[in-house]
Order: sequence, then structure tokens, then C-alpha cells
Amino acid sequence: MTNSINEKRAIQHLMDLLATPGGSGQEGAVAALVCEKLRAANVPETWMRYDCAPTRIRRALGSAAPKFEVGNLIVKIPASRPGARRMCLAHMDTVPLCRGAQPVRKGNIIRPAGRTGLGADNRVGVAAWVTMIETLMRERLPHPPLTVVFTIAEEIGLYGAKFLRPADIGRPAMAFNIDSGESGRIVIGAIGAQKWEAHIHGRSSHAGVRPEDGISATLIAARAIERAAARGYFGKIAQGRKTGTANAGVIRGGEATNEVTHYVYVRGECRSHDPRFLQVIADEWKRAFEWAARSVRNRQGQSGRVEFCVAGDYPSFRLPEDHPVVRFAMAAAKNVGLKPETRILDGGLDANPLNASGVPTITFGAGQHGAHSLDEHVNIREYLQGCRLALELATAAEPEADA
Ligand SMILES: [Zn+2]
Repeated sequence: MTNSINEKRAIQHLMDLLATPGGSGQEGAVAALVCEKLRAANVPETWMRYDCAPTRIRRALGSAAPKFEVGNLIVKIPASRPGARRMCLAHMDTVPLCRGAQPVRKGNIIRPAGRTGLGADNRVGVAAWVTMIETLMRERLPHPPLTVVFTIAEEIGLYGAKFLRPADIGRPAMAFNIDSGESGRIVIGAIGAQKWEAHIHGRSSHAGVRPEDGISATLIAARAIERAAARGYFGKIAQGRKTGTANAGVIRGGEATNEVTHYVYVRGECRSHDPRFLQVIADEWKRAFEWAARSVRNRQGQSGRVEFCVAGDYPSFRLPEDHPVVRFAMAAAKNVGLKPETRILDGGLDANPLNASGVPTITFGAGQHGAHSLDEHVNIREYLQGCRLALELATAAEPEADA
């Protein structure tokens, strides 16, 4: 019997983790609590360490890099039976809406006490892996070598997973990520995205006395966005059979009404399951800004200028239904009494960069619902199912080699 988790303890781990604050880049207290719980479960100190992801992120992004309290927390558990290494992961950070969250349990449901999110996204995942490790240690269950990674800064761009170093995780044959609702849904594909920034440079001039000398960056921004929309590249995008989405989400600029605006900043994103079409969408936006900058001229015939840059991205992935990791996860879910189904997601996951780096990774849920909203809650029954599935994935025998 491999699914003998201690339910009371599993729920306590979750309540403790939900009550601990930790936004993106501020995962220090959450990581410390995980370490404390693992020490109490007799996990030796030498199995746990933080990686240097923050340093690598700073090197890659320079001054644009977010601040970090800690790196990814990596727990390497030596094998107690032969087998290929497996990796388990869940992100530690929560979205800003969860600031000040206090979990309250009523029967089968956990909700926030006040008007905040709960942070079930993704503390259910963190708590389920803590429960898995504690159960392994207590029951002395046989298992292959395991790497459990508690990642940082997922919500602001999958940074922890993206900057994991292969040498630190020990080349796992497959990986299991917890980060969604129902435990029976096995996510085998997710969309890819590009985030972009446009820096629009115009020319200032007195808006009442000499407007004809100015080049309005606000007019350039307006024309660029309208151009992209008119060509069918704003919001939901469908060009023939190619689909995707795009959004200009942030516009900043201007300080006075009597000054032709000399600088505007626009930030947006595009998404598609098709990597080539994702590039097409990003290129459309770049061209729209460049066209708009050329179209706005002052009396001297000078035009505006745009710097358009990709500010972050992650690739899409799609594992085939008959991929070994998918079949293994589906079988494990059935073993713990679930009726599993495969899913493709329109959001990014830590599984995106992992699949891109060659570690086949599925994602499953552990009872979190209403992520990123005031209605966020945990279904405890589903959470416990997620914990059982987590344990099964870590311990179940390898499938027989295919004939
Ligand atoms: Zn999440």
C-alpha cells in the first residue's frame, strides 16, 4: 500500500504554508518553513540546498531582474531501490492578491478569512510534496532517486524553472509538477508566450504654442495599437487555422497636458500553441509600432522612433498521449482511484521551460480552485487525492519496458 498518507498532517502542512506570506521573489519564509518541516521528518541537512538561480537571472536580465530572497530549494533524496531519477516540483510564490491571506477551514473547504486571495496556487503543491517526502521517510518506502524542487518566481515569468541548471537537478528521466485544480487532470501541453515592451520616442514641444514642432508619442502608441487590432492581432487571434492571443496591457507616459508627449512606454504579450505563429504575432506588433512611429511627423518632416524588445518568453509544449511520462502518470492516477483525463492549457507553467530543456514534465492538480481571485479556495478531499497521487508518482514501479 503506497498511498498511506497521514491526512491530518497533510492538512496541517497546507494550513501552515497558506498562513506564510511569500510573493514572487519573497519566498524566503516559505522555503524556511519547508526546510523546518523536512528536518522534523528526519531529512538530513545535506539533502537540501538553494541553487544560484537569482545570480543567473541577474546576469541574464541585468537591472531589469527582480529581487530575490532565495534561490530554488532543491531536495535530492537518494534512491532506496534502483530506477531512473524522477523530479517533483511546485512553485512557492503566490500572486500579490494573496498578501495578508489567513486560511480558514470549514468542513471540506479552506478559504481566506478576509478580502484576499488564498495562495492555494501553489501552496497545495508545496504541501503535497512535503507530505510525500514525510511519508517516504516515515514508512521507509522504496523509491528511485528523487529530486524535489520548490521553485521561485513562477508567477512573474517562470524564472525559477527557467534558470534551473541541469547539473543541479541530476538529469531526471521525467518530472511531475503540481500547479492546478483537479488531481485527475493531467496537463500534457501548455501555450507559449512572448512578453514585449515598446519604448516610443517622440519629441516634446509646447502643445498650445508650437504643437506642429512636436512628435507625439501618445499618438504613435494609439496608432500602433489600432493598427495591430485592425489587422486582427489584438485579443483573440484567428488567421486561417492559426490561433493565439495578444494584449497591450500597460501604457505609461506623459506628464503635462501642455507638452507634446515625448516618451510613452507600452508593455504587452502574445500567446500561441504554435511557436511559428507566436513569432508571427510578435512580428506584427513590432511592425505596427514601427509603422506608427514613421506615420507621425512634425512640421520639419521628422518622425518618431520605437525600440521594440522581447522582455521574456517561454515556449509551448505538447507531449503525445502515448509518451512514457503521460502513460505513467495516467496509470498512477488510476492506481489511487482517480479517473484521469489529459488537458492542454492556455497558461504557462514551470513545465514549459522544463519540457523545453528536455525533461518530459506533466502537471497535475491538488485541489486549488479560483486561482488569482478573491474566490480562491481549496477542496480538501481533492487536495488529499493530490497528495496520494504525488506519493504514487514518486514511488510506483517503473512501467514494464515496452515490448
Ligand atoms: Zn501557479
